Amino acid sequence: MQRFSALSLFRQGLSGHRGWRAQWRSPEPKAAYDALIIGAGGHGLGTAYYLAREHGMRNIAVLDRGWLGGGNTGRNTTIIRSNYLFDESAALYDHAVKLWEGLSQTLNYNVMFSPRGVLMLAHTVHDVQVFQRHIHANRLNGVDNEWLSAEEAKAYCPPIEIGRHLRYPVIGAALQRRGGTARHDAVAWGFARAADAMGVDIIENCAVTAIHRDAAGAVTGVETTRGTIRAPKVGVVAAGHTSVVMAMAGLRMPLESYPLQALVSEPVKPVFPCVVMSNTIHAYISQSDKGELVIGAGTDAYTSYSQRGGLHISSHTLEAICELFPMFRRMRMLRNWGGIVDVTPDRSPIIAKTSVPGLYVNSGWGTGGFKATPGSAHVFAWTMAKDEPHRINAPFTIERFRDGLLIDEAAAAAVAH
Ligand SMILES: Cc1cc2nc3c(=O)[nH]c(=O)nc-3n(C[C@H](O)[C@H](O)[C@H](O)COP(=O)(O)OP(=O)(O)OC[C@H]3O[C@@H](n4cnc5c(N)ncnc54)[C@H](O)[C@@H]3O)c2cc1C
Repeated sequence: MQRFSALSLFRQGLSGHRGWRAQWRSPEPKAAYDALIIGAGGHGLGTAYYLAREHGMRNIAVLDRGWLGGGNTGRNTTIIRSNYLFDESAALYDHAVKLWEGLSQTLNYNVMFSPRGVLMLAHTVHDVQVFQRHIHANRLNGVDNEWLSAEEAKAYCPPIEIGRHLRYPVIGAALQRRGGTARHDAVAWGFARAADAMGVDIIENCAVTAIHRDAAGAVTGVETTRGTIRAPKVGVVAAGHTSVVMAMAGLRMPLESYPLQALVSEPVKPVFPCVVMSNTIHAYISQSDKGELVIGAGTDAYTSYSQRGGLHISSHTLEAICELFPMFRRMRMLRNWGGIVDVTPDRSPIIAKTSVPGLYVNSGWGTGGFKATPGSAHVFAWTMAKDEPHRINAPFTIERFRDGLLIDEAAAAAVAH
């Protein structure tokens, strides 16, 4: 791998930057691998990276029907936090935050992780009670989260209005200082480059159309638009289309798929220092390093595979943002887009072995899986390599929807992020 450093940048500058190599190869698929990952988003590429680095599995490939990072990884609003309520979730999401903190150094790729703080506004007594319950639960799990008065919240994020005249007065806020954002594309590119350097084949424009099984039911490989590929292990990391891919192996997933939208404004100078979310008004906002206000909307009310979403959902979100931040009323929106999110009944993911030997699934991240990318990939790689779950993902089974051991984070996902 061509390493990035100040010195390499200087050296390349001397030769007019003509010496940079492609960051990953575009190999032809081989006839067989030791393992296949379906889906070259952050979770899939990360899984391949950890399989190669920590489990020595280098004869592996990641297949994507489009371009790498073109799914939800490249479509999300990049919010990272770990202030979830239940012990299982706190362990999973904080595992990810700890990996985020060193990811740029680990990958030798600047993923622009920015722990600028995530502030959740309380507008009602109910909000106060819910957030304080989260704060206590988080602290018991060693996850940072603290309560701020309205004045302290304004001091942390000056654009917040805290007057009593407001329609939704801010009466306090929960702050996770270690939360923040990262550059989503860079996460996919960084994992891809590092995995490729260890010999992982990343094969784009290669849609999986069938999953092959032997007479005993075990996975033997996949059929793709670029031919048959054999492998004894297949990991499905195809957010938005998990149900479609898993149906190829005869499995019905407890998932519903919805379009989720986001939008950005025209770029302006730095005006917004952190991430702010309001569950009650249903809006969240941050500012990218390019200067755009990054705004997340909600899911459509109906299931669909169209990567667009209804206009009224975006309009509602902008009404909420203007209600919270009147100073943004005259901003113009630059563009909006959608992605398909797979939602489980308890709003927690599935990271597990399946009833089909050799078939593993990592899905159901709903509106909030970007924040988990390195942690999810790390424990999923463990699960695929050892054919048993890591202790962190052990509770995130498919069977919990049959057995009732739900991890109900619906409140944590009240705003889609
Ligand atoms: C608008 C929006 C905003 C969001 N905001 C946030 C946020 O602020 N914070 C947060 O934590 N999360 C957020 N999320 C959720 C987050 O983006 C996802 O949970 C996460 O990125 C999923 O990553 P992934 O790698 O699993 O999936 P993806 O990046 O979607 O990758 C899956 C890949 O599978 C491929 N695939 C599908 N079917 C096939 C097939 N048959 N053959 C081959 N390949 C296939 C797709 O092409 C795709 O590239 C948001 C999502 C959206 C849509």
